[in-house]
Amino acid sequence: MKIILKKEQITERVEYLGAKISADYMDKNPVLIGCLKGCVVFLADLMREITIPYTVEFVRTSTYGESRTSSGIVQADFFDLNVRGRHTVIVEDIVDTGLTLSYLITTLTKQDPLSLKVCAFLVKPGAYDAPVTIDYKGFDVPDEFVVGYGLDWNEQYRGIPYLAVVDEKSL
Ligand code: 5GP
Repeated sequence: MKIILKKEQITERVEYLGAKISADYMDKNPVLIGCLKGCVVFLADLMREITIPYTVEFVRTSTYGESRTSSGIVQADFFDLNVRGRHTVIVEDIVDTGLTLSYLITTLTKQDPLSLKVCAFLVKPGAYDAPVTIDYKGFDVPDEFVVGYGLDWNEQYRGIPYLAVVDEKSL
Protein backbone atom coordinates (compact mmCIF):
# COMPACT_ATOMS: atom_id res chain seq x y z
CA MET A 1 0.00 0.00 0.00
CA LYS A 2 1.22 3.46 -0.88
CA ILE A 3 0.50 6.27 1.59
CA ILE A 4 -0.97 9.30 -0.16
CA LEU A 5 -2.10 11.40 2.82
CA LYS A 6 -0.28 11.35 6.13
CA LYS A 7 -2.09 11.52 9.45
CA GLU A 8 -0.67 15.01 10.13
CA GLN A 9 -1.89 16.37 6.79
CA ILE A 10 -5.37 15.01 7.46
CA THR A 11 -5.47 16.46 10.99
CA GLU A 12 -4.48 19.90 9.76
CA ARG A 13 -7.11 19.91 7.01
CA VAL A 14 -9.89 18.67 9.32
CA GLU A 15 -9.02 21.47 11.78
CA TYR A 16 -9.39 23.96 8.94
CA LEU A 17 -12.75 22.52 7.82
CA GLY A 18 -14.07 22.50 11.38
CA ALA A 19 -13.10 26.14 11.86
CA LYS A 20 -14.68 27.13 8.53
CA ILE A 21 -17.95 25.34 9.26
CA SER A 22 -18.00 26.87 12.77
CA ALA A 23 -17.63 30.36 11.30
CA ASP A 24 -20.17 29.82 8.49
CA TYR A 25 -22.85 28.28 10.72
CA MET A 26 -22.57 30.50 13.78
CA ASP A 27 -26.05 30.74 15.39
CA LYS A 28 -27.53 28.36 12.77
CA ASN A 29 -27.46 25.10 14.74
CA PRO A 30 -26.82 22.99 11.60
CA VAL A 31 -27.50 19.28 11.30
CA LEU A 32 -24.60 17.22 9.98
CA ILE A 33 -25.71 14.17 7.99
CA GLY A 34 -23.01 11.50 8.05
CA CYS A 35 -23.05 8.97 5.20
CA LEU A 36 -22.34 5.54 6.66
CA LYS A 37 -20.10 3.82 6.88
CA GLY A 38 -17.18 5.60 5.28
CA CYS A 39 -17.79 8.93 7.01
CA VAL A 40 -17.32 7.74 10.58
CA VAL A 41 -13.67 8.58 11.19
CA PHE A 42 -13.80 11.87 9.30
CA LEU A 43 -17.06 12.89 10.97
CA ALA A 44 -15.82 11.97 14.45
CA ASP A 45 -12.73 14.15 13.99
CA LEU A 46 -14.67 16.96 12.31
CA MET A 47 -17.22 17.04 15.14
CA ARG A 48 -14.45 17.73 17.64
CA GLU A 49 -13.23 20.69 15.58
CA ILE A 50 -16.66 22.34 15.31
CA THR A 51 -17.07 24.82 18.14
CA ILE A 52 -20.70 25.87 17.63
CA PRO A 53 -23.93 24.00 18.50
CA TYR A 54 -25.00 21.37 15.95
CA THR A 55 -26.72 18.00 15.79
CA VAL A 56 -25.74 14.80 13.97
CA GLU A 57 -27.81 12.29 11.98
CA PHE A 58 -26.88 9.45 9.66
CA VAL A 59 -27.90 7.96 6.35
CA ARG A 60 -26.62 4.72 4.92
CA THR A 61 -26.05 4.51 1.19
CA SER A 62 -25.01 1.83 -1.23
CA THR A 63 -24.84 1.60 -5.00
CA TYR A 64 -25.97 -1.34 -7.06
CA GLY A 65 -25.33 -2.07 -10.71
CA GLU A 66 -22.58 -0.34 -12.62
CA SER A 67 -21.22 1.85 -9.83
CA ARG A 68 -18.53 3.50 -11.98
CA THR A 69 -21.09 5.03 -14.32
CA SER A 70 -24.30 6.96 -13.97
CA SER A 71 -26.27 3.72 -14.54
CA GLY A 72 -25.70 2.67 -10.93
CA ILE A 73 -28.71 2.68 -8.65
CA VAL A 74 -28.33 4.27 -5.23
CA GLN A 75 -30.20 2.88 -2.27
CA ALA A 76 -30.37 4.79 0.97
CA ASP A 77 -31.71 4.26 4.45
CA PHE A 78 -32.61 7.60 6.02
CA PHE A 79 -33.44 6.29 9.52
CA ASP A 80 -36.55 8.56 9.74
CA LEU A 81 -34.42 11.62 9.04
CA ASN A 82 -36.25 14.93 8.57
CA VAL A 83 -34.26 18.07 7.77
CA ARG A 84 -37.23 20.39 7.23
CA GLY A 85 -36.36 23.87 8.49
CA ARG A 86 -32.75 22.93 9.28
CA HIS A 87 -29.46 24.17 7.91
CA THR A 88 -28.10 20.87 6.62
CA VAL A 89 -24.58 19.68 5.81
CA ILE A 90 -24.06 16.29 4.14
CA VAL A 91 -20.76 14.75 5.30
CA GLU A 92 -19.37 12.27 2.74
CA ASP A 93 -16.19 10.22 2.81
CA ILE A 94 -15.44 10.36 -0.92
CA VAL A 95 -17.19 11.63 -4.02
CA ASP A 96 -16.36 9.58 -7.11
CA THR A 97 -19.06 9.64 -9.82
CA GLY A 98 -21.20 11.94 -7.66
CA LEU A 99 -24.12 9.54 -8.04
CA THR A 100 -24.57 8.99 -4.29
CA LEU A 101 -24.35 12.69 -3.58
CA SER A 102 -26.82 13.63 -6.35
CA TYR A 103 -29.30 11.15 -4.95
CA LEU A 104 -28.92 12.48 -1.41
CA ILE A 105 -29.24 16.11 -2.54
CA THR A 106 -32.37 15.36 -4.57
CA THR A 107 -33.99 13.43 -1.73
CA LEU A 108 -33.08 15.85 1.06
CA THR A 109 -34.11 18.90 -1.01
CA LYS A 110 -37.65 17.48 -1.09
CA GLN A 111 -37.70 17.69 2.71
CA ASP A 112 -37.34 21.48 2.48
CA PRO A 113 -34.19 22.22 4.51
CA LEU A 114 -33.33 25.86 5.20
CA SER A 115 -30.07 25.30 3.34
CA LEU A 116 -28.17 22.28 2.03
CA LYS A 117 -24.40 22.05 1.63
CA VAL A 118 -21.85 19.31 1.18
CA CYS A 119 -18.65 18.52 3.05
CA ALA A 120 -16.57 15.75 1.44
CA PHE A 121 -13.32 14.44 2.84
CA LEU A 122 -12.08 13.31 -0.60
CA VAL A 123 -12.96 14.21 -4.17
CA LYS A 124 -12.02 12.13 -7.21
CA PRO A 125 -11.61 13.72 -10.66
CA GLY A 126 -14.92 12.32 -12.00
CA ALA A 127 -16.86 14.29 -9.41
CA TYR A 128 -16.15 17.48 -11.33
CA ASP A 129 -18.27 16.18 -14.25
CA ALA A 130 -21.21 15.49 -11.93
CA PRO A 131 -23.99 18.03 -11.25
CA VAL A 132 -22.93 18.47 -7.63
CA THR A 133 -21.22 21.28 -5.74
CA ILE A 134 -18.82 20.40 -2.94
CA ASP A 135 -18.82 23.32 -0.53
CA TYR A 136 -16.23 22.00 1.92
CA LYS A 137 -13.51 19.76 0.50
CA GLY A 138 -10.78 17.89 2.33
CA PHE A 139 -8.53 16.77 -0.53
CA ASP A 140 -8.54 15.94 -4.21
CA VAL A 141 -7.31 12.39 -4.80
CA PRO A 142 -6.34 10.59 -8.02
CA ASP A 143 -8.68 8.12 -9.68
CA GLU A 144 -7.38 5.14 -7.72
CA PHE A 145 -8.94 2.99 -5.01
CA VAL A 146 -8.10 4.52 -1.65
CA VAL A 147 -8.47 3.08 1.86
CA GLY A 148 -8.01 4.20 5.43
CA TYR A 149 -9.42 6.98 7.61
CA GLY A 150 -12.84 5.29 7.46
CA LEU A 151 -12.67 4.02 3.89
CA ASP A 152 -12.66 0.28 3.36
CA TRP A 153 -11.69 -2.44 0.98
CA ASN A 154 -14.05 -5.36 1.62
CA GLU A 155 -14.77 -3.84 5.06
CA GLN A 156 -11.07 -3.90 5.96
CA TYR A 157 -8.63 -1.02 6.54
CA ARG A 158 -11.19 1.51 7.86
CA GLY A 159 -9.12 2.05 11.00
CA ILE A 160 -5.75 2.94 9.51
CA PRO A 161 -5.04 6.57 10.45
CA TYR A 162 -3.71 7.66 7.05
CA LEU A 163 -4.95 7.36 3.46
CA ALA A 164 -3.40 4.79 1.16
CA VAL A 165 -3.81 3.41 -2.33
CA VAL A 166 -4.30 -0.33 -2.59
CA ASP A 167 -2.29 -2.10 -5.23
CA GLU A 168 -4.87 -2.69 -8.01
CA LYS A 169 -3.43 -6.19 -8.63
CA SER A 170 -4.45 -7.27 -5.12
CA LEU A 171 -8.08 -6.22 -5.65
P1 5GP B 1 -20.08 7.82 -6.04
O1 5GP B 1 -21.55 7.61 -5.88
O2 5GP B 1 -19.65 9.26 -5.89
O3 5GP B 1 -19.55 7.23 -7.32
O4 5GP B 1 -19.36 6.95 -4.95
C1 5GP B 1 -19.36 7.27 -3.63
C2 5GP B 1 -19.12 6.05 -2.78
O5 5GP B 1 -18.31 5.06 -3.44
C3 5GP B 1 -18.33 6.46 -1.57
O6 5GP B 1 -19.18 6.90 -0.53
C4 5GP B 1 -17.55 5.20 -1.24
O7 5GP B 1 -18.34 4.37 -0.42
C5 5GP B 1 -17.34 4.52 -2.58
N1 5GP B 1 -16.01 4.82 -3.14
C6 5GP B 1 -15.72 5.52 -4.26
N2 5GP B 1 -14.39 5.57 -4.47
C7 5GP B 1 -13.81 4.88 -3.46
C8 5GP B 1 -12.44 4.59 -3.10
O8 5GP B 1 -11.46 4.96 -3.76
N3 5GP B 1 -12.24 3.85 -1.97
C9 5GP B 1 -13.28 3.40 -1.19
N4 5GP B 1 -12.96 2.70 -0.11
N5 5GP B 1 -14.57 3.68 -1.49
C10 5GP B 1 -14.84 4.39 -2.61
